[in-house]
Amino acid sequence: MIEVRGLSKRYGGRTAVDRLDFTVRPGVVTGFLGPNGAGKSTTMRMILGLDRPTAGTALVGGRPYRDLHAPLRQVGALLDAKAVHGGRSARNHLRCLAAANAIPAGRVEEVLAVVGLTAVADRPCRGFSLGMGQRLGIAAALLGDPAVLIFDEPVNGLDPEGILWIRTLMRNLAAEGRTVFVSSHLMAEMALTAEHLLVIGRGRILADTGMREFIEAN
Ligand code: ADP
Ligand code: ADP
Repeated sequence: MIEVRGLSKRYGGRTAVDRLDFTVRPGVVTGFLGPNGAGKSTTMRMILGLDRPTAGTALVGGRPYRDLHAPLRQVGALLDAKAVHGGRSARNHLRCLAAANAIPAGRVEEVLAVVGLTAVADRPCRGFSLGMGQRLGIAAALLGDPAVLIFDEPVNGLDPEGILWIRTLMRNLAAEGRTVFVSSHLMAEMALTAEHLLVIGRGRILADTGMREFIEAN
C-alpha cells in the first residue's frame, strides 16, 4: 500500500505537485493519468525517496521510503525510460544489483525468465533495443520480489507486442496481491490496464475513482 498525505513539491516559485492525498491499494492496478508536466514523475520520485517533498508525506507499507528496511525487497520501480548503457550484460547487471541487496543469485535467473531475456542475458546491454531495455528495467524492479511496484510511463515507445506484454504482467502482479501503481498520459492505455484511476492535472488530483465508474461518468 502507498499512502500519500498533503504531498507538495515546489521548484523555485513553481508548484509542481500541490497537496496530494491518495491511497494506492494492493490487488488491483492503479493508473496515474495526466498530461505531460502534470506532476506524475515528481510524485512517483517523492514516493521513492528520490525527491524531497516541500510538504507532506508519502508512506510505503506504512513507512517513509528512507526508513524501509530493505528497499529493493519492498518497492520495485521502473522510472522514465533511461537506456542501460555500457558493456555489461543483463545477467551481470542483475547479479550486481542482487549482490548489493543480499538477494540470492538464483533469483536473477528467475527474473530473466519472467521478462524473457534469458537467451540474450550474456550480451552487452548497449546493444539492447528500447523494448529489451524496458524488460531489463522490469527485471531489476522484480528482483527483490517486492510487494509494491511503481512504473513511470512503462509502455512509452514500445511496439504493440511489448505494450501487451507489460499490460499483462502488471495485471498478473496485481492479481498476486501486489500494489501496482502505473503512470501514463494516454487514457486509452489506462482503460486497458488499470482497474482504479487517479487523474492528475497541474499538480492536483482531479479524480480518484474506479475505472468503470470513471468511464461511465465521462
Ligand atoms: P509528468 O511526469 O506528469 O510529465 P513532472 O512531474 O515531470 O510531470 O513535472 C511536473 C512539473 O514540475 C513540470 O512543470 C516540470 O517542468 C516541473 N519539474 C519537474 N522536475 C523539475 C526540476 N527538477 N526542476 C524544476 N522543475 C521541475
Ligand atoms: P504462472 O504459473 O501462470 O506463470 P505465476 O504466478 O508464476 O503464474 O506468474 C504470474 C505472473 O506474475 C507472471 O506474468 C510472472 O511474470 C509474474 N510473477 C510471478 N511471480 C513473480 C515474482 N516472484 N516476481 C516477479 N514477477 C512474478
